[in-house]
Amino acid sequence: MHIDILSAVPRLLDSWFNESILQRAQQKGLAEVQVHDLRDWSTDKHRRLDDYPFGGGAGMVMTIEPIHRAITELRSKREVDEVIYMSPDGEMLGQGLANQLSLKGNLIILCGHYKGVDERVREHLITREVSIGDYVLSGGELAAAVLSDAVIRLLPGVLGDETSALSDSFQDGLVAPPDYTRPAEYQGWKIPDVLLSGHQANIDAWRHQQAVERTRLRRPELLDRSERDPGATDR
Ligand code: SAH
Repeated sequence: MHIDILSAVPRLLDSWFNESILQRAQQKGLAEVQVHDLRDWSTDKHRRLDDYPFGGGAGMVMTIEPIHRAITELRSKREVDEVIYMSPDGEMLGQGLANQLSLKGNLIILCGHYKGVDERVREHLITREVSIGDYVLSGGELAAAVLSDAVIRLLPGVLGDETSALSDSFQDGLVAPPDYTRPAEYQGWKIPDVLLSGHQANIDAWRHQQAVERTRLRRPELLDRSERDPGATDR
């Protein structure tokens, strides 16, 4: 998978993709993330990316030309599956959307700044808009990092133990059961006996029952949804 991220402040993302799991994914050749400075496509002599809004009002708007030039150039280099604009009013990011996007080959992610982008970018150049939650950030970079992380960790081979992404919260419409590691007893705090039993079927049953119980307590709407419509967790 190749992800091109377009940003007015690319430095914000410098360290994010160069550490830990995301770095390993790139070293193994499973994912390639390129963060581009939108100013490289600006024809303004001061390399500006924003201008005043028509109709007046506070705040600046990102202009269409550098964004159009950037997307056109990137599209000429490779087959692009989605051009995603990070936006608070976009489709809400959930595990289902991360799963869907992890099956794509190449993505472009556009980060907004200031008040956002000229509406014509959204009308003509974008194929999809994604929000990471009902709050407003000052720029799309954190949101693009969240989306890329959620997608890249799903690519086969990225996580050491491939089954571990499948047992994460939300994958089966349930939150994850509790995990424990050594020591089995710490200051008198013990782990559940079943985990020491060596009986895998009992352990699996216990984990499932814990996941269901936790989901009922913490996120009952997930249970309602999967009971109403068993395929709902993909969305
Ligand atoms: N005026 C816009 C907010 C602009 S915030 C509005 O009211 O909707 C500046 C930029 O940050 C946006 O263009 C977007 O790219 C990014 N951003 C802010 N909040 C976000 C969120 N919850 N999810 C995804 N991107 C977000």
